[in-house]
Amino acid sequence: MASLAETLETLEKRALGDLAGVGDDSALENWRNVYLGRRGALADYLRSVGQLAAADRPAAGQAANAVKVALEAAFADREAQIQALSLDARFEADRIDVTLPARRLHTGALHPTTQILRRIVSIFRDLGFRETEGPEVELDWYNFEALNIPPDHPARDMWDTFYVNPPSVLLRTHTSPVQIRTMERSTPPVRVIVPGRVYRYEAQDPSHEWMFYQVEGLAVDAGLTMADLKGVLVAFAQRIFWPDTQCKFRCSYFPFVEPGMEMDVQCPICRGQGCRVCKHSGWLELLGAGMVHPKVLTNVGYDPEQVHGFAFGMGPERIAMVTHVIDDIRLFYGNDLRFLQQFG
Ligand SMILES: [Zn+2]
Repeated sequence: MASLAETLETLEKRALGDLAGVGDDSALENWRNVYLGRRGALADYLRSVGQLAAADRPAAGQAANAVKVALEAAFADREAQIQALSLDARFEADRIDVTLPARRLHTGALHPTTQILRRIVSIFRDLGFRETEGPEVELDWYNFEALNIPPDHPARDMWDTFYVNPPSVLLRTHTSPVQIRTMERSTPPVRVIVPGRVYRYEAQDPSHEWMFYQVEGLAVDAGLTMADLKGVLVAFAQRIFWPDTQCKFRCSYFPFVEPGMEMDVQCPICRGQGCRVCKHSGWLELLGAGMVHPKVLTNVGYDPEQVHGFAFGMGPERIAMVTHVIDDIRLFYGNDLRFLQQFG
């Protein structure tokens, strides 16, 4: 009897000791099988009670039941503790630090060339010019011949290009073919502004690219003169730079105009005082222009005795280089985000 009671006491102690070491659901289930299961330690003990003398059985049975109740209660407590612990662990894993700075959103911006092109076009739109475009893959006729540049003309050396299908299909070297295409399908008065990509077979350096943009303007009407051309160009320069920007015109040569000229503007950086950008001259070359050559008007079926026209062309990158003091044209199309992000 004494030894059975001792056995029960030892069993309870061992069970409670083991239970304290149980850390998760499967160990808990295992513990229950070992001590409280049908073939567990307590069941074994109860079977041994059956071998006692009949008088001793009730007391031994009661003692065993008391231990069973105590172990079941301890089990329930431990189960609740483990559930609470695993809930804490889950909360810990799901924790979000709301004080962390948010991830930065990357927003795009217009390319510096697009920005300046839109400004240029909108100024000419205010002056009554309509925006139009033309193909970048051109016929020799539109790029050269109709513009008074026949096949053996020395001016072709200035505009060497890439041939898509030699000798007649090429990448346009200027936006001027759009002048021809526009005049072919319209009757005067004509007033268009033509932005677009152009190509040159060119060795790249800080001021030369094989692909760049041009904006070209054309006006044709009865009675247009050089004074109209100068008025339009001065109005443009004073809107894109400063309202009091000074302009000067120099004689120049382009096969598709007569007379031809170039326009210089007072350096918008130093306002004519002289600086690095204008090479201390106070002036910057801005664009080429002139009165449309009578032969070009004839080529599109206009009568040069009835109508006159003027045309001008400029490089938007060049204007952006001046206004942003950029010293290498290759930066525009080098796809370097460190450069492009400065214009957001
Ligand atoms: Zn300057």
